[in-house]
Amino acid sequence: MEDHISGIHEECGIVGIMSPTKKALAYDIYFGLFALQHRGQESAGIAVSYDSRKINYYKKMGLVNDVFEEENLKAFPDGNCAIGHVRYSTTGSSNVVNAQPVVFYGRFGRMAVAHNGNIINCDSLKSAMMKKGHVFQSSIDSEVIASLINLNSEENLRDGVLKTCAQLEGAYSLVIMADGKLMAVRDRHGLKPLVMGRRGDDIVFASETCALDSLNAEFVRDIKPGEIVTVDEDMNITSTFMQNIERHSCVFEYVYLARSDSTIDGRSVYDMRYDCGRYLAELYKIEADVVAGVPDSAIVAARAYSETTGLPLVDALSKNRYVGRTFIQPSQSLRENGVRVKLNAIKNNINGKRLILIDDSIVRGTTSKKIIKLLRDCGAKEVHMLIASPVVKYPCFFGVDMDSRDKLIGGYRTEEEICAIIGADSLHYLPIEYLIKACKGKKCDYCAACFDGKYPVDVEKYNCGKFVLEI
Ligand code: SF4
Repeated sequence: MEDHISGIHEECGIVGIMSPTKKALAYDIYFGLFALQHRGQESAGIAVSYDSRKINYYKKMGLVNDVFEEENLKAFPDGNCAIGHVRYSTTGSSNVVNAQPVVFYGRFGRMAVAHNGNIINCDSLKSAMMKKGHVFQSSIDSEVIASLINLNSEENLRDGVLKTCAQLEGAYSLVIMADGKLMAVRDRHGLKPLVMGRRGDDIVFASETCALDSLNAEFVRDIKPGEIVTVDEDMNITSTFMQNIERHSCVFEYVYLARSDSTIDGRSVYDMRYDCGRYLAELYKIEADVVAGVPDSAIVAARAYSETTGLPLVDALSKNRYVGRTFIQPSQSLRENGVRVKLNAIKNNINGKRLILIDDSIVRGTTSKKIIKLLRDCGAKEVHMLIASPVVKYPCFFGVDMDSRDKLIGGYRTEEEICAIIGADSLHYLPIEYLIKACKGKKCDYCAACFDGKYPVDVEKYNCGKFVLEI
């Protein structure tokens, strides 16, 4: 989790609700987005449909509860369909023009799209469209998706979405509101999570189950890789599937991105993280006095390590919960300063102790170094670092901002070198086979490319390869 503090981010969170009756859905979307705040903190937006061709929307830079005040929510009309989005930018600059949902006039009157993921052939699709006279307002790939859906919907919306998906390569979970329908789409690899729930007669879609819980909606099922679900005004639910479906769910969702109280593709994130800690305990026996996790996502693994070994679990670090994630300030110097703002050591728990510190991942390494120094300054006699995932060596092109290899400490340093750089007494990682075992799936069902470089799509073809090789 080092970069919970210093800057590894999911691109977005999405939520959508269809109801048989008109009601104040903006409030529901607000609470859904609030539960997904960890997936994006730069901007938030809500769009409500109050007629099959009419949509009201509001979006702005900031956290959900900064963007939406009571009067903004009250200003929305009652509607029977609504979608929402929280964003962290990995493509397109951080400004309100790039905030979502994308709302536009098209074949079906006003339409709206919210997207989580990254389209790796977006540039070529966009330039081909621009040559034909299309214009774009923003630099986000979601606008390209929206334009393609409109362009391709000559027959009907569902066929338009299906044709569009056949043109897109990369990661996308979508909620689409148009023509009196709500659609939920998951790319053919199922890279980004997307779930369906039910609350009374309402159908809810969300990036994670924690958003369903916050709306008191009952989990129905995961949207399958390559599935397009349509809910119409009469609440009929139909599914269509894309061609060439090959599941490769993002394993990093379990490692860090998702909330521990979510379930993805049938596997509880909490249980998966617990098993990672248990495997670390089985693999690495270290002479130490106490074990601690870096808050928040590594706490579960630390608990498992403690319960497996009998070593006392302590709180070594206290997190200031009222500071937004430091990636709102993405420069390196601000990232580094942000660590001290966000975390402090609990001296009495570590003074004079040999400490095992568990974290979920090391990406850039800068935060781990600062945390270990902080712990030593506060009296820790030894700090042994255990990482509940393998070495992050390769960039992600699917919407998580682990960019070129030279920014990933594991991309150009050995484990011994990383240990020396971060100042740990020892450093061990969880091997990839244990990570997959903890997911309770088959290796081929997951994308673990940031660990093993095996991308589910031909990234070289889309000019991403240079970033893989550049170190
Ligand atoms: S490269 Fe890593 S972060 Fe990106 S989708 Fe694959 S597993 Fe997830």
